[in-house]
Amino acid sequence: SVPLSFFGGIGAASKQGILVKGSNYLEALNDVDTVAFDKTGTLTKGKFSVVQIKPQSGISQTELLQMAASVESNSTHPIAISIMKAYDGKLLSADNVTERPGHGLAASINGRTVIVGNSKSMKQQSNFIETQTVGTVVYVAVDGQFWGSIVIADKPKPDAQQAIKLLNNRGIEKTVMLTGDNEKVGTAIAGKLKMSSVYADLLPENKVEIVKELLADSHKNSHKVAFVGDGINDTPVLATADVGFAMGGLGSDAAVEAADIVIMGDEPSKVARAMKIAKRTRQIVI
Ligand code: ADP
Ligand code: MG
Repeated sequence: SVPLSFFGGIGAASKQGILVKGSNYLEALNDVDTVAFDKTGTLTKGKFSVVQIKPQSGISQTELLQMAASVESNSTHPIAISIMKAYDGKLLSADNVTERPGHGLAASINGRTVIVGNSKSMKQQSNFIETQTVGTVVYVAVDGQFWGSIVIADKPKPDAQQAIKLLNNRGIEKTVMLTGDNEKVGTAIAGKLKMSSVYADLLPENKVEIVKELLADSHKNSHKVAFVGDGINDTPVLATADVGFAMGGLGSDAAVEAADIVIMGDEPSKVARAMKIAKRTRQIVI
């Protein structure tokens, strides 16, 4: 049997835009000592803007951007949306489009193979040079030749700093960033938010492995691990953590489905608010 006050807790949470799928998740929150966060769309706005377009010699900025946009027009990733916003010319028609989570996209345009994605997706391309910058970099290669890079920048949500601070105030010192983005961007944003650690360059399956390591550490001390994410890539991690939070405002339906707790809107600080409600609920039970 479930104490009635747990339903009270779920009700109180829902009034604050926090949808808890079962009283056991509210109870589990009391034992959490580690909170891992996805970066893009969870701690950052996920609204990138193009800040630099750097073609290889012989290729114009417009040609580079057109090639990228023609491929990205097939994706709903925040990166894709930002590239579409920066390009208002004609799109080339792309066939056989495939999206590789944590990498980028591949497609065929006028019989040429086009790859648009991060440095991991450029491993086989000739003349590839990594761009050194604090920014998310999208690279373009055509028929095995590196064409250049597009640098885009995202910003932390105003609420993200508060999210980490409120957790620290609750005695939760392990705040971990898990990101598929590069190390420079990850470190810069995690540092700004005063998070305790950051793991970058991760594929969705690497995020699962790291959460499993965090779980092993926490469980040793009878503690629990929460994960907060928004994207379709986050679904396996949401299912792996003891308590999975999906940001429902901008998030994907798959993430909302896989989560134990759904945060309506886009404020990661609601994780700490949910913990406050969980604690109050437990005190009422005892
Ligand atoms: P995060 O883990 O920060 O939320 P994602 O897992 O959504 O980020 O994406 C990880 C990385 O994969 C991105 O930083 C980007 O380098 C690359 N990527 C994913 N989708 C795309 C895309 N549509 N176009 C270009 N690059 C992409
Ligand atoms: Mg994300």
